[in-house]
Amino acid sequence: MPLNLVEEIKICEVGPRDGLQNEKRILTTEEKLVLIEGVVQAGFSVIEVGSFMSPKAVPQMANTDEVFQNLKRKEGVEYRALVANLKGVERAAACGCKKVKLNVSASKAHNLANLNRTPAETVEGFYGCMDAARSVGIEVSGSISMAFGSPWDREIPLSDASGQAYPTQVYQICTDMAKTYPQVAWWLHFHNTRGLGIANIMAGMQAGFTRYDSACAGVGGCPFVPGAAGNVATEDVVHMCDEIGIKTGVDLDQAMKVSRQLIQLLNHGTDSYLLRAGKSSDLISELPTGQLRNQTLK
Ligand code: ZN
Repeated sequence: MPLNLVEEIKICEVGPRDGLQNEKRILTTEEKLVLIEGVVQAGFSVIEVGSFMSPKAVPQMANTDEVFQNLKRKEGVEYRALVANLKGVERAAACGCKKVKLNVSASKAHNLANLNRTPAETVEGFYGCMDAARSVGIEVSGSISMAFGSPWDREIPLSDASGQAYPTQVYQICTDMAKTYPQVAWWLHFHNTRGLGIANIMAGMQAGFTRYDSACAGVGGCPFVPGAAGNVATEDVVHMCDEIGIKTGVDLDQAMKVSRQLIQLLNHGTDSYLLRAGKSSDLISELPTGQLRNQTLK
């Protein structure tokens, strides 16, 4: 392999949460359970199932408690949820959610729009959430939005919800972060707003990062970011990894099946390249050898 890449990565499927939280059509508990079951069957070991936010603010996630209560849990799979405050931790504990994620934005303006608090106030609130979660055996992780750029301000100090990250910057930031905080298990989260999601994942892998978020069919977006597009599509990431020989543990055909089902449910197209063009390997097997050669020579 000419590039200095990692051998294996872990992908967290964030479609059920990040992907669905801005959709007009609200999926029922049953529909979400089928989607999550499909994701598990495809081989994912980390899934972001939903969030415990105010049902008024995010009605798409109002049934997260019910989804957790009815999950058919598979051993070795981590089902996590996003929380914003103590109330969220309490809801997580009550429905059997064992892993929560706290989020703060590196951008003050984005944090105010999203959580109605400054980043410092949000981080201050983390202590109470951490204590409450630990006391009931819930594992906690954290995430930083707008870590690679913000459309509002330039106070940027690893989620790229605004789609402003670019590969050389990702490589540099990841390399610096890994050196400064070697004890942290970093996840990278890219949206494909400007078509750089996959290139950014490549840059992350070159920097030695092995954990990535993606969403089936590339669903998602952020209501506060101008022109925001979906998350980088899971099948596009798995396909790239298959092509370059990086293990993901995910069955691409099964992942594509789940993505197609989701698109049908939502009743609109997405930016997934794989769903539009199919796998490279399918193309080769579909064409007779001569025909393929002629096309290449043109
Ligand atoms: Zn996102």
